[in-house]
Amino acid sequence: MNFQEEIRYFKELSLRKLKKEIARIRGDLPPEKRKIITYSRNFTLSLSNYCQNQCGYCFYNFKVPKLSGEGNVVLLENEKMREIIQKGLEHDCKEALILSGDHPDSFKEVRDELTARHCHTFVEFVKDTCMYVLDFNILPHVNIGILTIEELKELKPYCASMGLMLESTSVELLKKGGVHEFSPSKHPKMRIEHIENAGKLKIPFTTGLLLGIGECFEDRVKDLLLIKKIHEDHRHIQEVILQNFEYKKGISYTPSKPLSMKDILRITGIARVIFQNEIAIQVPPNLIAGHEKDFIKLGINDFGGISPFDLDYINPEAPWPSISYLKKKCKQIGYELKERLPIYDKFINKKEFCTETIKQRIDNINLDVDYSII
Ligand code: SF4
Repeated sequence: MNFQEEIRYFKELSLRKLKKEIARIRGDLPPEKRKIITYSRNFTLSLSNYCQNQCGYCFYNFKVPKLSGEGNVVLLENEKMREIIQKGLEHDCKEALILSGDHPDSFKEVRDELTARHCHTFVEFVKDTCMYVLDFNILPHVNIGILTIEELKELKPYCASMGLMLESTSVELLKKGGVHEFSPSKHPKMRIEHIENAGKLKIPFTTGLLLGIGECFEDRVKDLLLIKKIHEDHRHIQEVILQNFEYKKGISYTPSKPLSMKDILRITGIARVIFQNEIAIQVPPNLIAGHEKDFIKLGINDFGGISPFDLDYINPEAPWPSISYLKKKCKQIGYELKERLPIYDKFINKKEFCTETIKQRIDNINLDVDYSII
């Protein structure tokens, strides 16, 4: 089937047949893996929310007024960073999500701070942060926007994994009135190149789609097929996130017709059929609260990074559920919630994907603590 035929096939696939296919795909897994849903116990180091883009749906960007929460960060202060890491250790977190806007060093305020902290570039600051975090046996997962292949190469030895959402390759979104009209680095070509470069460098990688930002059903299926193709070429994609857009006060984008939970569930099921058991599928549990069991039945096997103490910087209005709540939801339909690391198991013993620095830290981590009572 070519792309167009595949899109038509998924458009016509009934929900009953989709569920049957998902059950068959799960049945292909070894018995001990069929009923497992994973998550990573993490916290966020938001290094700078200065960003050269202005995506219509974004609340994180420093240009969007913050009435509450963390406020704007030119460059995360050392003391604040130490404080967050300390809390992460107290809560037994294994992952630090290292986050920023796209090219924050395109702003003078950020460049001045970098100079004051003896860093020539923002990427150097990120590298130093990763090394610092690793000293505590915490594994960095880096998602800081578009990078060149040289920058990816510079960061790779110090990251357990990296991420960049494909979001959507619809060029309509770049046009006047589209959510990416003022976001130069949201051009699909740049994002595809970044994901492919990560593949060439053998970086365990997380990507995904942002749903409900003006794209259509055909775009979503096309993008999932594109991710599958990139993965077939490089075998580096560990996880695909399907993240639904949530409206919040202060942003400029209001969808004319928001996506329904039914639409999101359907594309999740289609993703499972496209990726079979090759790539994990995650939905952020704070954005689908109350529907967790439906998403498990439609093929997800991961709830992503969940923080026991801080907020979702991208969707601060949606608090993380507790681990015990998710554990209960899984158990109600015969599944088990299990902690994982930010680098998926299949990459840990592959030297080309997991550097010696990261492997040493992994060997010091104990994943066998039961958090069901926390
Ligand atoms: S979504 Fe990311 S790239 Fe877009 S404005 Fe927000 S921080 Fe910048």
